[in-house]
Amino acid sequence: MSEADIERLCDFLADSKCTIALTGAGISAESGIPTFRGVQGLWEKYDVMEFAHIDAFRRNPAKVWGMLLEMDRHVVNARPNPGHVALAQLEAMGLLRLVVTQNIDNLHQTAGSREVVEFHGNSKRLRCLECGEMQPPESVDPENLPPRCACGGLIKPDVIFFGEAIPWAANVKAFEYAQRCDLILVVGTSAVVAPASEIPVVAKRAGARIVEVNPEETPLTGRVTDLMLRGSAGEILPRAVRMLMDRRH
Ligand code: NAD
Repeated sequence: MSEADIERLCDFLADSKCTIALTGAGISAESGIPTFRGVQGLWEKYDVMEFAHIDAFRRNPAKVWGMLLEMDRHVVNARPNPGHVALAQLEAMGLLRLVVTQNIDNLHQTAGSREVVEFHGNSKRLRCLECGEMQPPESVDPENLPPRCACGGLIKPDVIFFGEAIPWAANVKAFEYAQRCDLILVVGTSAVVAPASEIPVVAKRAGARIVEVNPEETPLTGRVTDLMLRGSAGEILPRAVRMLMDRRH
């Protein structure tokens, strides 16, 4: 990654009046949480329709809970990495208004980001599919899956499976900011899961600049993206923060 590319990102950030970030599984890869797509992605091991569709969950909740517990083992031990920390620092510097994350791992909040839209929910919360009541984490006994609520309903992590609607308030806020931001940082997402993948497209149509941070190209690259920073979020984002801090001194 050339210094000139980081300079350009810093110029964009300094010029912008409203910057948001859209993040995906890639920003948490350096925290040890496997991504869904890409090398060693979870979907190499699990078929998406068999494990991450709400119909599959209802059909065979014990089997899907097995996969969820495997993912959870990565998530509970994960700590924010320099990429998460850099986004929190940009917010504290007044240069980032909002993080819209597709991740369910809570790492942006742990890193100190305050304005976070959880587009796909949060795996730390559990909810009964029947009565809607939140459930304590102790309700999951790995020896006795699937966990059930006192009402008899199935308990599910409060995350969005394929076939489920995006939480209403999260959807409204994310697209409202897509319309009014003038810069969007698209970090660590393969940008193939709609409607999250439409956020940069909507922002572009409304006149925003699009910067991607990803070691791989995505469907946005070369079509919607103005600046492609090929590399890892944990390296690129802290470099930009350091450069911006140096400029302030
Ligand atoms: P994805 O798995 O489809 O794609 C990951 C992207 O991150 C790829 O484009 C990859 O090239 C890129 N990447 C890998 N390492 C990177 C790094 N160090 N820095 C920057 N980019 C890197 O992820 P997605 O687009 O978020 O879609 C998958 C869905 O799976 C999301 O809906 C999300 O909810 C869910 N998911 C969440 C987590 C999590 O919470 N950490 C983990 C896996 C999947």
